[in-house]
Amino acid sequence: MFRRIRILLLLGVLAAAVGLTWLEQTMVRAWQIPLDVAVIPINGDGSAQATETIRALRASDFDDIGAFLERETARYGVKLSPAVQIALLPELHEQPPAPPRDGSVLKTVWWSLKLRWWVYRQSGAWLPQLGRIKLFVLYHAPQDGVALEHSLGLQKGLIGVVHAFADAGQTRQNNIVIAHELLHTLGATDKYDAEGRPVYPQGYAEPELPPQMPRHEAEIMAGRLVSAAGRLVMPPSLDQCVIGAMTAHEIDLDEGFRRRFASSGG
Ligand SMILES: [Zn+2]
Repeated sequence: MFRRIRILLLLGVLAAAVGLTWLEQTMVRAWQIPLDVAVIPINGDGSAQATETIRALRASDFDDIGAFLERETARYGVKLSPAVQIALLPELHEQPPAPPRDGSVLKTVWWSLKLRWWVYRQSGAWLPQLGRIKLFVLYHAPQDGVALEHSLGLQKGLIGVVHAFADAGQTRQNNIVIAHELLHTLGATDKYDAEGRPVYPQGYAEPELPPQMPRHEAEIMAGRLVSAAGRLVMPPSLDQCVIGAMTAHEIDLDEGFRRRFASSGG
């Protein structure tokens, strides 16, 4: 009897979790109201530089992201102004669980559950904040020749973990990484290959032009462009980033367009 009740309870919790995940995705991908985004800064390396960067952060440092999303979603017929509302939350003095080093499926599943539990716990709220995208930004002092860890964005739970440079000169490029991970939480996939090169055509701005033509803009889920010198470069800011047709489809922008078109037609 008790065993049965326990199993029923567990199944109930599981069903609720699956249902809420589905509901959240439906909410954020409907493009009817501005995206609700929380940025939570974390000192990634314990450095004084990261402390200083976090202390100097203002919500307006992320304005680029709103402008980018508003401009790009408008190209697909979504008229949302603002497209996103970004809240800068106080610094968090705890690090999210690190992803497993090897790509074992079981370990990855376990880690993603741990991460979701960690996010829920640190929110301090009893009920999960439905539809809120949580972006944890870990600031690191730049070190010559040392690359940052990979940032990531999870669709389930709407969670992003972003590794960023603690350097005012990097704010605009940090915003490219943040926007990239934000779009992962909405279901966008990466559009670069194992060497980090954009995949043609979906990873290119102006995909109607041949791949060997140099670009000035990057597709956001490729994050890089091939310059006139044939080098892979990150653009200076989100002003030189676009949402390509495939990414737009993945985050349901064309569905938003279709709905809008259908309703305006009566
Ligand atoms: Zn990515």
